[in-house]
Amino acid sequence: MTNEAVYNVIGIGIGPFNLGLAALSNPIPELKTLFLDQRDGFDWHPGLMIDHVTLQTPFLCDCVSMADPTNPLSLLNYLKETGRLYKFFIRESFFIPRKEYNRYCQWVIEQLPQCRFSTQVVDITYEEGLYHVTTVHTKTKETTVFKTERLILGTGTQPHIPSFIPKDDSRIIHTSSYLYRKEELLSEGKKIAIIGSGQSAAEVFYDLLQSRNEKTQLGWYSRPDRFFPMEYSKLTLELTSPDYIEYFYNRSEPARKTILSKQQAQFKGINYDLINDIYDFIYDLNIDNADPNLKIIPNSQLNTVDNSNPDFINLEFTQLEQEVPYDQEADYVILGTGYRYHEPAFLKNIQSRIKRDSSGLFDVNRNYSIDQNGGEIYVLHAEVHTHSYISTDLGMAAYRNSYIINDILGREHYKIEKKIAFQDFDVEKYADLPTAKI
Ligand SMILES: Cc1cc2nc3c(=O)[nH]c(=O)nc-3n(C[C@H](O)[C@H](O)[C@H](O)COP(=O)(O)OP(=O)(O)OC[C@H]3O[C@@H](n4cnc5c(N)ncnc54)[C@H](O)[C@@H]3O)c2cc1C
Repeated sequence: MTNEAVYNVIGIGIGPFNLGLAALSNPIPELKTLFLDQRDGFDWHPGLMIDHVTLQTPFLCDCVSMADPTNPLSLLNYLKETGRLYKFFIRESFFIPRKEYNRYCQWVIEQLPQCRFSTQVVDITYEEGLYHVTTVHTKTKETTVFKTERLILGTGTQPHIPSFIPKDDSRIIHTSSYLYRKEELLSEGKKIAIIGSGQSAAEVFYDLLQSRNEKTQLGWYSRPDRFFPMEYSKLTLELTSPDYIEYFYNRSEPARKTILSKQQAQFKGINYDLINDIYDFIYDLNIDNADPNLKIIPNSQLNTVDNSNPDFINLEFTQLEQEVPYDQEADYVILGTGYRYHEPAFLKNIQSRIKRDSSGLFDVNRNYSIDQNGGEIYVLHAEVHTHSYISTDLGMAAYRNSYIINDILGREHYKIEKKIAFQDFDVEKYADLPTAKI
């Protein structure tokens, strides 16, 4: 079936980023939009929706506030509408529970009929000046083609499993599936190895630490030399800013790669309070010098995972500073090995319209478009290599969405801040210094 309507914008994927775009484009009558997602409804990272975890970013990272604090789809309005605003006021924290953020996003969707679920995009072609988006309804299997002038790709990132790790072994689990398997993990006396030093690995370790029975043996292994915190000092947080995106974008391709490689602690560490909570919990277990029945080993690179024995998995590590190999056995391995962006297969028939850089990645324009004409196909969350790690941050989503909406409209509908940081990233542009070319 072909839907004869022509949309100005079709957004593919309704994660928080495209949901923000749907919310911010909603009050603009001249934008006819449609947003599609293959899932049956919005459910934010359900396999990691652990009780009591909070967002890592202040609540103002909701769908609209940083672009337009007066928009009725703000988190504060959600709290008002649901009778929770006073409780939020008394709680006195910028960091809302992840469960509440999920519920808020579902509330936003209830008010946006342009968001459709159970609709998988399977192909896109370009015909007579329009993109033809072929979708399959995941339940009825009905095929529909929608026509649009522009696409916004918001398909998110996928769980990453390093290539040397055996696939299709149910004893090896990515953190993204953790809660689906938690009960099984807690069955009597299992040995569980958690790999990774990021936030997800730490959340899973802490949750198992609190819920395990006394015979469960927990091991936590990280490649870095310590379990380091995400950096939240305020001058570092200034890197989450329009100024920094501008600065980063204007560096050369090799320079950007070097910068990204140095920003581990800023984006990949563990929440500072969580590290301390973990320590304090273990301290309590150890009162009277009791054995907490744990192994926590930094500096450990996982080299091989041998799952040939049905009774246990053998993990072979190297302690990197000592250069000493060592083995560990486990009944279950939980991989906190992060997420990666994969280009969606549905782009295959419009490849010739997409710009590439020397590494074959999307050559993303400053306005977040990747097409040859510079204003037809936009990406959300696929531009770390051009717009910095901030691309993954909920706090900058409203900025990116404002930028894209203004670009599409050809005018500044949403006011965009240009310089907010007290520091100057770009001496050629801002610092009042004489500069000489080297
Ligand atoms: C556990 C966890 C907690 C996080 N917490 C924070 C935080 O506190 N603060 C922060 O700044 N960042 C956080 N992040 C990082 C980031 O904000 C999230 O990953 C966020 O979900 C990214 O949103 P997204 O819109 O890019 O993609 P996603 O949320 O991954 O959504 C993508 C959507 O695209 C859909 N899709 C894919 N392919 C198709 C297709 N062919 N057709 C139709 N639909 C399709 C999928 O079904 C999915 O719903 C967190 C990440 C994780 C994993």
